[in-house]
Formats: sequence, structure tokens, C-alpha cells
Amino acid sequence: MTNLLPEMAEIWQQTLNWQPNVQQQAQFQRLYELILEGNRQLNLTRITDPQEFWEKHLWDSLRGIAPLLSANFSLASPAIIDIGTGAGFPGIPVTITVPNCTINLLDSTRKKISFINNILTELALANAKTVVARAEEIGHHPQHRLAYDIALIRAVGPASVCAEYTLPLLKQGGLAIIYRGNWTEDETTTLQNAVNQLGGVVESIEQFTTPLSYSIRHCVYLRKLATTPANFPRAVGIPTQKPL
Ligand code: SAM
Repeated sequence: MTNLLPEMAEIWQQTLNWQPNVQQQAQFQRLYELILEGNRQLNLTRITDPQEFWEKHLWDSLRGIAPLLSANFSLASPAIIDIGTGAGFPGIPVTITVPNCTINLLDSTRKKISFINNILTELALANAKTVVARAEEIGHHPQHRLAYDIALIRAVGPASVCAEYTLPLLKQGGLAIIYRGNWTEDETTTLQNAVNQLGGVVESIEQFTTPLSYSIRHCVYLRKLATTPANFPRAVGIPTQKPL
């Protein structure tokens, strides 16, 4: 990984018009080592090859927040939440890359959050905090509902479920970013129906190719335009059992 990073500088620049500084490179490197160590006790990720880790965990995490890396992004210190962060993706690479943000990393599994707490200490990431809870619960908590500028969600469920988890947490005008592999027109129709009920719109769906393995990925951007009705998110388990 150490040797791999300098080669990647050009790809960061070409694809995201951004490059990690020396400190961020060191933090990415240490993150990789800590994930490998953690994998010995916890089943955190099957992605352990350095190039694959770089592409599927680091690059993919940051591709979703490309709008934040742009010089036109106007929020000085965005409040971000990563829902179902698992081993910390996309949340930890985002924390490293956007040091002026405040970020909450949420997961319902306590063991994963304990692991992430160690990473945050090791990497001295003071701008991130963790929460052990279900998205359906914190969606009704006054500390979290309507509290975020940006909600990230990767590999947690179908897009309409992700919309129900994210939109209640956003401030009016906030952005939900749903990371996806494949995407179909049918999913757009289902998602639009869900988002209408939740006070948002599908702002854009971006398709892109990953820079090393040339896999197709999508990012779906939802904008919250109106109040989310108080009955959303529905009770724990209902969004996945009966998706909107
Ligand atoms: N986002 C990470 C990634 O892309 O590598 C982890 C994805 S993992 C497949 C899904 C994670 O979401 C798990 O860690 C699980 O505990 C968490 N999760 C699933 N449903 C959740 C919910 N309703 N509330 C909070 N966390 C949830």
C-alpha cells in the first residue's frame, strides 16, 4: 500500500481533481493496516488486496462525495452522517478527506463501532463521532432528525430503504448520497415514488467506471425539499420488510 499510493496520485487527480496530502496519505495507509489487523478478529471486509482496497474502499468512498471536493462546494463545515458504516466506509475516508466536516458514523453492531472508535483514536480523527443505533430509531431522535447537511449510505439495502433511513435526518436542502453497484430504470421508478412520500427528489443518478478494475458503479443523489412526515422512518425492520 505504501508503494501503491504515489502511483495513485495521478488517478486521484484525473478522476476527482483532488489529491491526498502527506498526512492524509499516511492516514489512508494506517487505516488499511488497522483494517487488516481488525479482520483477524472481526469479519470486517473481504477486500484485503491493496489495489482492491484502494479502489473499492478508498476511491469509491470519495467518488460519492465528489461534489464536496469541488471548489464550488459552499458549506464551510458540513454536518455528515454515514448510516450503516460497517468497518467505516465511506465515513472514515470522508472524515480524513474533509477535515472541516463533523461526521457521525452510525451502525447497529456494537462490535464494529468499538473497532471504529479505536481507528478514530489511532488516526487522531477528532471530527468524527460514533453512534450505536438503528437508523429507524435515530430518525426520530431530536438530536439527529433534521440535523445533517449530508447523509451517506453504502451497501445497506435497496434504494427506497436507504431513502427512508436518510431523508428524515437531513435538514431542508440537505443531500443524501446512496452508493450503488448496478442500477435499473425500475429502481428509479420505485425510488421516485418513495422519495415523493419522504419530502425529497431524485436530483441525479451518476454512472461511472472505477479506475482500476473498470467496474460500473452508481451514485444516487437525493435532495430534501420539504418536511418528511412524522411517521417516517417506520418502526425498526418495517422499511426492509415493506419497502416504500
Ligand atoms: N457501509 C459499509 C460498506 O459499504 O463497507 C458497510 C456495509 S454492510 C454490508 C451493512 C452495515 O449496515 C452493517 O454493518 C449493518 O450492521 C448496518 N446496518 C444495516 N441496517 C442498519 C440499520 N437499520 N441501522 C443501522 N445500521 C444498519
